[in-house]
Amino acid sequence: MTARILLLGGVTEALAIARRLGPEHVYSLAGIGRVPQDLRCQVRVGGFGGAEGLACYLRKAGITLLIDATHPYAAQISRNAAEASRTAGIPCWALRRPAWQAQAGDDWREVADWAGLINALKPFRRPLFTLGREPLQHLEEIPLHQFWTLRALEACPGNERCEVIGARGPFRLEDERALFARRGIDVLISKNSGSVATEPKLEVARERGLPVLVLQRPTLPEVDLSFAQLDPLLARLGL
Ligand code: NAP
Repeated sequence: MTARILLLGGVTEALAIARRLGPEHVYSLAGIGRVPQDLRCQVRVGGFGGAEGLACYLRKAGITLLIDATHPYAAQISRNAAEASRTAGIPCWALRRPAWQAQAGDDWREVADWAGLINALKPFRRPLFTLGREPLQHLEEIPLHQFWTLRALEACPGNERCEVIGARGPFRLEDERALFARRGIDVLISKNSGSVATEPKLEVARERGLPVLVLQRPTLPEVDLSFAQLDPLLARLGL
């Protein structure tokens, strides 16, 4: 394929695509996670300045195909990608990872937003948050009967009712088991990322009969071509 690609990253599969791209292509990262130093393609870190800024970049850089391989909850950049590709008159493809599905006996409770989550959390005492950094903005609101364990990419100070652990996936089942047991976790809070790397926590919740509060997936925009798996996308790119 002779396209010049801008690949918007955010999930593990994006890095797998980036590893196959030559120097004429660009891999773009928000700058939240690690930035790989060993790629043949160009790496760009940081925002574009909304859909308008992205469209401008696409034109200036001579990009002919935009690939959205961002996190399923990174809805803003996905909206920007769809809009900017239309403005620039180039196709937008997306890698859209399927959501995890609850199994028989699972007690998954979907919540729409932070307010819904806090309400659903009321009966519990020792929640494990695996939602990224958003709970950090609410540390002062933790009810007296709760102690939060918050797992994020980087550790940072919590307070007397919250400990923040820094850890990056993939997570092993036995480590997740130990974490739940050590901390007496009684409810898990998660996005539905659909990632194999972070799935073991769901297995542990299942084993321990614990409820999982699942943050609803955002609605993502229509694109020209959507792939649920990495391999068909690589095949279509001839990589
Ligand atoms: P977002 O709300 O969709 O994006 C916010 C802004 O970040 C975008 O408007 C864009 O800035 C910039 N951005 C995002 N992805 C980019 C990329 N690949 N290249 C260049 N710029 C990018 O997403 P978010 O704030 O990053 O995250 C939203 C949720 O997704 C969070 O809950 C987070 O935990 C989760 N998540 C995100 C990532 C990720 O890599 N983004 C990875 C794992 C999980 P401009 O408008 O200035 O272009």
